[in-house]
Amino acid sequence: MPSITSSKVSRWDQHGREHIVHVQKAGVQRALTCDTCGWRKSAQFLPWLKAEEHLAEAHQATIDPAGTPGT
Ligand SMILES: [Zn+2]
Repeated sequence: MPSITSSKVSRWDQHGREHIVHVQKAGVQRALTCDTCGWRKSAQFLPWLKAEEHLAEAHQATIDPAGTPGT
């Protein structure tokens, strides 16, 4: 398990807009909140994966700005 210091997941959509899901620790769970649409979810496992899923499904935002070079 890599140590992840980031408490948010950000992705860009095809129009270059940034969408951010914040990940906050809430006891054993993580509380996810989407900046764009107000979506909320709590997740005990893999909160970042759930955040990515939401960004992809709700906002078609799949481009990792930090990320992997190439399209
Ligand atoms: Zn959203």
